[in-house]
Amino acid sequence: MIDELVKYSRRMTLDHLAFGTTGNLSVREGDILWITPSGVLFDEVASHNVVGVDLDSGTIVYPHARPSSELPLHLALYRNRRDIGAIVHAHSEYATIFAALGESIVPVHYQMALSGYEVRCAPYATYGTEQLAQNVLQTMGTSERAILLANHGLVAVGPDLATAYQSALDVEWMARLLYRARSIGRPRVLTPDEIAAVREQFRQYGQHTGG
Ligand code: 13P
Ligand code: ZN
Repeated sequence: MIDELVKYSRRMTLDHLAFGTTGNLSVREGDILWITPSGVLFDEVASHNVVGVDLDSGTIVYPHARPSSELPLHLALYRNRRDIGAIVHAHSEYATIFAALGESIVPVHYQMALSGYEVRCAPYATYGTEQLAQNVLQTMGTSERAILLANHGLVAVGPDLATAYQSALDVEWMARLLYRARSIGRPRVLTPDEIAAVREQFRQYGQHTGG
């Protein structure tokens, strides 16, 4: 799990999900949450500075460094959603533009069906606070895979880090698409029925055998 965290940390800057030390990643391993260190460049995240935290108590059990300041947000999501195995938080450019406007990313492409109907925006609170964690929980609901944080960035979740990371990339891609479409016209927003039909269609996508 630590290796996975290091591997995806090293991709954050290359994939334009991070600049400087903004954003953080975590992964659940049994009762332990492994999280990136606070204020460390993603290219410098390594097995010796990833932090292990007991999920129930919030106690740091592997104090290799100071954990990300967004530890309360990560803890709240794992404690309230058993389906979540990994979390990606990023200040990527286009998602953060919509977050700055306090707007949802509405579905102007069928690919949005992967994330729900739209990517909603949680109300603003100071970074690293319990209030921000509560705002995220309330906006995220029980099954969404991603949300925006007003005036801040995005949070994507998944059963594993590969899936959560791909969700973060998807959100950034859809935000960029919506931004660009709006800059030359008025894109049509897909209806809930159209998105539901795509979700149904996705069940047979790719090499799925139906088993
Ligand atoms: P950390 O470096 O403490 O993880 O903080 C970055 C961040 O994005 C805070 O919201
Ligand atoms: Zn942040």
